[in-house]
Amino acid sequence: MPEEEMSVFLGVTRRDFLKFCGGMAALIGLGPGGTPQVAAALEALAKRPQVIYSSFQQCTGCAIQLLQTRTPTVANLILQQISLEFQDNVMAAAGDAAEAQFEKIVESGDFYWVIEGSIPTKIPEATTIAGENVADRAKRVYPKAKGVIAYGSCACYGNVQASRPNPTGAMGVGEFLRTKGGIPDAKVINISRCPGHSEDMIAALSYVLVTGKLPELDAVGRPVFLYGKTIHDSCMRRGHFEAGEFVETFGQAIAGDPRCLYKLGCKGPVTHAPCGINYWNGHVSWCVHNAPCQGCAEPGFWDKFTPFYEQLRTFGNFPAETIGIALGAATVVGLGAHAVASAATGRFGRHEDETKGGER
Ligand code: SF4
Ligand code: SF4
Repeated sequence: MPEEEMSVFLGVTRRDFLKFCGGMAALIGLGPGGTPQVAAALEALAKRPQVIYSSFQQCTGCAIQLLQTRTPTVANLILQQISLEFQDNVMAAAGDAAEAQFEKIVESGDFYWVIEGSIPTKIPEATTIAGENVADRAKRVYPKAKGVIAYGSCACYGNVQASRPNPTGAMGVGEFLRTKGGIPDAKVINISRCPGHSEDMIAALSYVLVTGKLPELDAVGRPVFLYGKTIHDSCMRRGHFEAGEFVETFGQAIAGDPRCLYKLGCKGPVTHAPCGINYWNGHVSWCVHNAPCQGCAEPGFWDKFTPFYEQLRTFGNFPAETIGIALGAATVVGLGAHAVASAATGRFGRHEDETKGGER
């Protein structure tokens, strides 16, 4: 076997492994020079970190995204880079045997906990596991975990279940623990987007393993190294936004048209996520290739951003009509587009109170 094909991870070529580490180093913020550091840290893991994955109030879309990840293959991700000790969708064990495995790992206190889905606070019995509602499970297990990752916008902020009228009182895990769970200083790493992106989750986990500490989080609990920029910042259509060149109506061939989708309701200027950096579908494409961004990474996006296909109602402190006219004239009168986007960030994005994504 050629040397570049050799890897300590069976089934993953050395080249692919280093490519994966390079991607992780870039996401973590170490830059290209951080590739050897990430590779060394992952290869030197004397003991694979134990991970348990729980499904709360959710649609299983996040689990499907994780199971379809391509970098590396899910088999190697699960079997070699982490020790996934419990995943209720795919594990062979069921019933008492599965629960016994869950409790054994929890009792060890040597595990990271990934949670998909929200917590129903008004109707706790809406989601139970082995007879225990997930609110009680979150309160009981959180203190024993070495780290907790809320994976996907449901686990982070309640998402679709928390949209008006929110009959179950759905909340994100961290928000629940801090406001209703009696753990005011609970720290949960939020990995938002709908579904959650497996690379974001693995990047957060890798950050903890490589650096030995939690990443810096933004005001709504997301790692700054992943969510510090807006979709707009990394969008390949950005130059056309700046130039005032827009797709005007649906029905035009969006995928083959490089112009900006702002007038079709794109929420990219006020949405923080790395979609334009690590893409989807094995790095092949992402939403803005074919449609306006819906803002799925932001707390409360269902209520804040609908109707999805209408131009942003407010854009920072400026009425949308004003911005639209200015942009249409390609002048952006007196306003740098980036300044506008930054102003909008303050209104919709990281500075928004996390609780607004929950009960209303
Ligand atoms: Fe489903 Fe989206 Fe919630 Fe994941 S974040 S469980 S894909 S609705
Ligand atoms: Fe891209 Fe949307 Fe920003 Fe236009 S408004 S540049 S499509 S993110």
